[in-house]
Amino acid sequence: MYWEKQLETLAHDELKKLQTERLKETLTYAARSPFYKQVFQQKGIRPELIKQPDDIRRLPYTTKQHLRENFPYGFLGAPKQELIRLHSSSGTTGNPTVIFHNRHDIASWANLMARSLYCAGVRDTDVFQNICGYGLFTGGLGFQYGIERLGCLSIPAGAGNSLRQIKLMQDYGTTVVHAIPSYLGRLYEIFQAEGLDPRKDTDLRLFVIGAEPHTEEQRQRIEEMFGVKAYNSFGLSEMNGPGVAFECTEQAGLHIWEDSYLVEILNPDTLEPVPDGEVGELVLTTLDRQAMPLIRYRTRDLTRIIPGTCACGRTHARLDRITGRSDDMFIIKGCNVFPMQIEGVLLKIPEVGADYLITLEQRNGADEMIVDVEVKKDWFNGDITRLDRLTRKITQQIRDEVLAKPIVRLVEPGSIPKSEGKAVRVKDNRTLNTVKL
Ligand code: ADP
Ligand code: ZN
Repeated sequence: MYWEKQLETLAHDELKKLQTERLKETLTYAARSPFYKQVFQQKGIRPELIKQPDDIRRLPYTTKQHLRENFPYGFLGAPKQELIRLHSSSGTTGNPTVIFHNRHDIASWANLMARSLYCAGVRDTDVFQNICGYGLFTGGLGFQYGIERLGCLSIPAGAGNSLRQIKLMQDYGTTVVHAIPSYLGRLYEIFQAEGLDPRKDTDLRLFVIGAEPHTEEQRQRIEEMFGVKAYNSFGLSEMNGPGVAFECTEQAGLHIWEDSYLVEILNPDTLEPVPDGEVGELVLTTLDRQAMPLIRYRTRDLTRIIPGTCACGRTHARLDRITGRSDDMFIIKGCNVFPMQIEGVLLKIPEVGADYLITLEQRNGADEMIVDVEVKKDWFNGDITRLDRLTRKITQQIRDEVLAKPIVRLVEPGSIPKSEGKAVRVKDNRTLNTVKL
């Protein structure tokens, strides 16, 4: 049932004790870094001040801006010679964010990944195809080390080239796939184009999907298309990457590994903690990282703690599906909208295909939200009244959900441009002339 029974089912009090110890250790490592050394000195922060996990509230926040300003080595809590790997974000706007790891960090991350995969039902008898970019992006190597630690046969397939992916699945009898959800609809279309049915023509049984926001509707579609169970995987590079929080086979929220991360959910405006069950910003502190500990890192991701205990017996808190980052929200015609609200509406409509794109534009001085929606291939038969009816239905349902009326355009399957990596759901052309930081 468990990868590490004792740690995964630790009683609440024991977990708090472990967190307190590890938080103190983390502060000791952090105090060696130029950034935290200065902050701690200014504020009189010492590891001995920590008596319980809640004392975290006396510590300062860390933001992406801090990471960028102290690029590249300002957060190092260990000597450079100890480092064995770095991962970094693309950094199209300014300095990239870079995270360094020593041997301990890589080993504990691999273990967390193995624990996460085991928790979702992956076993060492599985053939695991990782459809994910290898390189500076954490999804490739992060999963790779976990898959090997668990003992599956790993296929480090990399991203893209769908025909090759299908061939790998068939040649080696892949049973588990990890991929970003927005890719899987496209992959299914390639199966269809080849006259193949993944339910019959492969051994697939389990998917791990994550790295980008997606809805319950999206998960259900993936499960039906491929005849698998799909489990949600959450992480961010600043906290290693994948392996921060993962769904167990109950599919009732994502267990966040509290022996390795201290979790806070804060009201993003007041920065006061919100009660369990209420949505706020996820703020995380690493508890088991030496080379680059981060304290109270503001993820910008919005979620809530699901109250109560999980039927699987694990005691680590469960996060609800991440609805997006606070910066994903856009305002149109005075309404606050998250792209996932629109995805939720679209994917409930059976005629809707794999992809969609929201474009925000100024037309005649007014803001407009244009929603391009791919329809399913077998649905379109040239009947204009059918198209018109569907357009009106989608328009009405989006309007009911977000309160702003969109301009809906139905488009052919495959016609929405694909981005490399994570899906781009919103193009905001209103801000073209302004610099977005
Ligand atoms: P970048 O910050 O460049 O996007 P990361 O790979 O670190 O690169 O992305 C982490 C972010 O991706 C998270 O902060 C979150 O916004 C999003 N994310 C990751 N996994 C999920 C998931 N399962 N559900 C929703 N969002 C996710
Ligand atoms: Zn569980």
